[in-house]
Amino acid sequence: MKTIAIIGAGLGGLSASIKLASNGYNVHVFEKNAHTGGKMMPIDMGSYHFDFGPNTMTMPEVFDRVFEEANLNPRDFFDWTRIDQHTRNVDYNGESFMMSTNQEEMVDELSKLDPYAADHYNAYLEEIERLYLLSKNSFFPRMFTSPGDYLSPGLFNAVLRVRPLEKMNHFHERFFKHPLLLKAFNRYSTYIGSSPYLSPATFAMIGYLEMVQGVYYVKGGNTKIAEGLERAAKQLGVTFHLNTQVKQVHIEGKKATKVETVDGFVLPVDQVVINGDLLQSYPALVNEKHRPSMRNKKIESSSPSISAFVIMAGLSTRLQNLCHHQVYFSRDYTEEFETLFDGKWSLDPTIYISNSSYTDPSVSPDGDNLFILVNAPPLSGNNTISEEEYKTIIYDKLEAHGLPIREYIVEEKIVGPNEIKDRFHAFKGALYGISSNSLKNSFLRPSNQSKDIANLFFAGGSTHPGGGSPMVVISGKNVAEKIIERDAVK
Ligand SMILES: Cc1cc2nc3c(=O)[nH]c(=O)nc-3n(C[C@H](O)[C@H](O)[C@H](O)COP(=O)(O)OP(=O)(O)OC[C@H]3O[C@@H](n4cnc5c(N)ncnc54)[C@H](O)[C@@H]3O)c2cc1C
Repeated sequence: MKTIAIIGAGLGGLSASIKLASNGYNVHVFEKNAHTGGKMMPIDMGSYHFDFGPNTMTMPEVFDRVFEEANLNPRDFFDWTRIDQHTRNVDYNGESFMMSTNQEEMVDELSKLDPYAADHYNAYLEEIERLYLLSKNSFFPRMFTSPGDYLSPGLFNAVLRVRPLEKMNHFHERFFKHPLLLKAFNRYSTYIGSSPYLSPATFAMIGYLEMVQGVYYVKGGNTKIAEGLERAAKQLGVTFHLNTQVKQVHIEGKKATKVETVDGFVLPVDQVVINGDLLQSYPALVNEKHRPSMRNKKIESSSPSISAFVIMAGLSTRLQNLCHHQVYFSRDYTEEFETLFDGKWSLDPTIYISNSSYTDPSVSPDGDNLFILVNAPPLSGNNTISEEEYKTIIYDKLEAHGLPIREYIVEEKIVGPNEIKDRFHAFKGALYGISSNSLKNSFLRPSNQSKDIANLFFAGGSTHPGGGSPMVVISGKNVAEKIIERDAVK
């Protein structure tokens, strides 16, 4: 039986572990933290449960397939709830509209703000469906191991048809005129940690996931997904080493031979999958002389995606004007992104709030459980603002929108870029590794396989196909399938 070490129990590592174990591999997952799920992390304070990380779930079929392909029933592990009227978008001046997967409701909402958008909504849906289907068929299922992979005629053709040269904002301007609508749809670029003014229109297809396929929530909290994946993996025989940090991957003759933990445990291996953030983990675990294609200098010069500043606030009341997902936009969205990618904190940030107790009071029976998220710059020398100062800016702004959060706080916790970096070993605290602001970084994300070490693979949000939890699950599955396929032909 072949032995595989997976370093990191994030969603990518868990998905790879299930595929490999169900195909007869001896799988060991090493995780430095006490929980599995990585950034999908449960935070429980008093009677309040919070889902740190993924609050907006899309593509449920991707998660379900991990179980089904291992002959398990996903419904034995967790249940999805679909949220049709899913996100309230509020502008700085109080104007608002609700996003819905119901097309008629959407056209009604749009016509109140922007008759042009109402007239063009159908054309918008057709175009994002086209972008989504091209990506789904041509990019998601493949492992890209070199730029040459893009040169196959079919794939090259597909790249040209996903509007790689148009910017996301420009794409949206063709369908929406009202500034709030442009902000709301441009916000999808933040799902890949990038700017709508720099990232390619290809990523407008994220809108298809929310506006057509639907937004989902898991009863009891989205972290039930990670718990379910861990339970399934254990049923299939995966060994978990929690609270166990890997110190080094030993390389001999361009092959990974052993992994060694900080406690001195050594596991001889046939293959290794690094699920931790590639930019942080690869240099930390593999000596530079073994990775000429990925030297420290190249890693250091990478342009990181955005980070996050998160406040989790448990309240003693249920505020009247909140639903499950809502966004309070900045006045000048362009300036906000310029500030962020200049490495600075925006003083007028766009604020996202998830209040999952609106859908599921059982996760927080005594009042709202607010997950308040603001885009933050990745760590650099310019990170000058204190957590307390930034929290005040956020609470003041929400108070002006009729949300007097401070008056009702029972529990509170802040997680900023420094903690994201330390807790998840994330490069400069970035959520998704390299940003997708340039054409090269959008279409040539770091490969899922080391160019220098034959049996070393990468799965997770910092690699192909990209950030966002469904993509991460796909990357784990792709890597596992590649390992299985390679072993089958040996
Ligand atoms: C604030 C926030 C909000 C988000 N919102 C959403 C959302 O609404 N929807 C969505 O789909 N996605 C969202 N995401 C993104 C999503 O959480 C991630 O893309 C996904 O969870 C990443 O999974 P991963 O497998 O890449 O690895 P990670 O979650 O990064 O896990 C990697 C694991 O590797 C471990 N590790 C690293 N190095 C070592 C080592 N040497 N030894 C042992 N263990 C190690 C780390 O501790 C970590 O647990 C959000 C993320 C954040 C942070």
